[in-house]
Amino acid sequence: MKVFECPNCKSPVFFENTVCQYCNTSIGYNHYLDVFDIPNNNQDNFHKLCSNFDLGVCNWLVDNNKNTEFCLACSLNRTVPNQSNTDHFDKWTKLEIAKHRLIYQLLKLKLPIKSKLVDEEGVAFDFLSENNDENKLTGHANGVVTIILSEADSVHREQLRTQMNEAYRTLLGHFRHEIGHYYWELLFDDSNIESYRNIFGDEREDYGEALKNHYNNGAPSHWNQNFISKYASSHSWEDWAETWSHYLHLMDTLETAHCFGITFNPNTEYVKKLVTNTCPNPYKTENFKDIFDASIALTCAVNSLNRSMGLPDIYPFMVPNKVLQKLTFIHNLLKKQNIK
Ligand SMILES: [Zn+2]
Ligand SMILES: [Zn+2]
Ligand SMILES: [Zn+2]
Repeated sequence: MKVFECPNCKSPVFFENTVCQYCNTSIGYNHYLDVFDIPNNNQDNFHKLCSNFDLGVCNWLVDNNKNTEFCLACSLNRTVPNQSNTDHFDKWTKLEIAKHRLIYQLLKLKLPIKSKLVDEEGVAFDFLSENNDENKLTGHANGVVTIILSEADSVHREQLRTQMNEAYRTLLGHFRHEIGHYYWELLFDDSNIESYRNIFGDEREDYGEALKNHYNNGAPSHWNQNFISKYASSHSWEDWAETWSHYLHLMDTLETAHCFGITFNPNTEYVKKLVTNTCPNPYKTENFKDIFDASIALTCAVNSLNRSMGLPDIYPFMVPNKVLQKLTFIHNLLKKQNIK
């Protein structure tokens, strides 16, 4: 994630800001130009705030020439909780922060973003309560990403993480995983599915049986030599979605480090061998190995910083060679793919 600047006084502003903390100017995110702008400021380039701004769940701008009240990120919502239920509404607010960060990154990756509400091929989000919508689970089906609101309860989420023996469980992680299922459908057809199967296995294996087997018997004993997580070993589609979400984690953290100009100059020979000196802009880097090497250095440093504060690692994973190959496959696919 980039660090932005105030259009009025050039002070730093962060992605969720609605007002510059230094000069008090109202600001919103202009995704067309990837900058912060002053709403309703300029007659020639007139941008209004998204309708969800008034609800406190969005700070994005909408081109006034477009006949829509919602910004790109909010136009993808199909079901959102009613404001009158404050508990549901608070949870949705947290989910929107993660969702907007997801959409920011999809734009950086130049992936097509269309709302299913206007285009059958598009994507839509349903934010549902497990009480009102029984039998619904967080997941993806036919371009609809469902997120269960209780995931936004951090205590509940941590309980699930422990129960399911996961190293990592976050709202942003859920969005990155589920959108991976959606893009799988757009990215593969008869012309390239064999290259996919060569690396991620055969997705025609019975999905329901595979998940049942995973929940009954757990992951195979050497799962960590081939997969980024235990869950990734359950079925080819889950391997794809898990690896895809890791690709997004690495790209976003590296962009953030790049924007802060983070460089490395460690004081021991051993660590020196591990690292490259600088963090490149990952969205402008051809070779995934350069991204990966910088990510290793970055996560090694930041995990150590977290430990200094008594916090868990921000990236609690080991990436085996097989997973590096899968990540490289995704990087090369997105580079050459020109999907509409
Ligand atoms: Zn300012
Ligand atoms: Zn919006
Ligand atoms: Zn999945």
